[in-house]
Amino acid sequence: MSTRPISFEFSAPKTQAAASSLRRAHDRLKRFEHEFVSVTYGAGGSTRDGTKQTVLALNDDGVVAAPHLSFGGDNSETIEDLLTAYQTAGIRRIVALRGDRQSGLGTPKIIHAAELVRFIREKTGDWFHIDVAAYPEIHPESKSVTSEITFFKEKVDAGANGAITQYFYSAAAYFQFLEECTKAQITIPIVPGIMPITNLTGLQRFSHICGADLPRWLVKRLEDFEEDDAIKDFGADVVTRLCEQLIQGGAPALHFYTLNQSKPSARILDNLGF
Ligand code: FAD
Repeated sequence: MSTRPISFEFSAPKTQAAASSLRRAHDRLKRFEHEFVSVTYGAGGSTRDGTKQTVLALNDDGVVAAPHLSFGGDNSETIEDLLTAYQTAGIRRIVALRGDRQSGLGTPKIIHAAELVRFIREKTGDWFHIDVAAYPEIHPESKSVTSEITFFKEKVDAGANGAITQYFYSAAAYFQFLEECTKAQITIPIVPGIMPITNLTGLQRFSHICGADLPRWLVKRLEDFEEDDAIKDFGADVVTRLCEQLIQGGAPALHFYTLNQSKPSARILDNLGF
């Protein structure tokens, strides 16, 4: 029986049907005691309402829900209004990001996550527990490991309480990153982001965009499967073993990227004995 806090990430819905499907996925995952759920944000504001409504509805149902937030091209008033709405509803947790170019971050002025963390602290003091993003395999736009750690530390110094990583399939990359953080006196919990494997094409596309490394051995094996069910079986085994390594090595918690599906995460959690 594994004991480790877990959390689930859902993608912000853009339609009523997507919102209902997200709620169904959450209902099916409820049997796993979880610390919180987080809901993504389209950095250009494309899911401003979807994120807010989902988080507020989950919060109304007694779920600890954390909105993701980015400046994107928005002005400070828009961001402050969102923070006020969350604070008024009693939301205490937030995930502060720069935002993805693909999700609508097309503005010439990029506002880094550290600036958003400073803004949240300035406007709301210690009200929110703030998580930021971390990249054990190094963010695709980073010039070097040194700059990665320097800018990550800037987010921590700005007031982040914790970090959630981009997904990865090499436990060694995560543990190496933790060592580098320790050397830089970064002491916040760094929680691995876990991406279940259900299909090769989608995973390759997504990994290319976000800079996650797919090991050659993994791609080659996934290429051999012709049936979806066989890929899912193999993927669940691979990710279960990764989680076991992470837990044994002392990862403080596990954060599951659900992509609004319950089964892939549930299967791994069942395998782990949660
Ligand atoms: P930053 O911390 O700002 O870093 C981005 C890059 O800029 C890094 O290479 C960093 O080293 C560099 N950098 C930082 N500060 C400076 C500086 N002052 N000068 C020069 N370079 C600098 N995207 C979405 O659009 N919506 C989401 O909901 C979302 N959720 C996510 C959740 C998690 C857990 C993770 C890991 C990622 C998520 N993303 C999301 C993706 C994220 O927005 C992208 O990876 C984005 O490219 C970087 O965001 P960041 O917050 O890490 O940015």
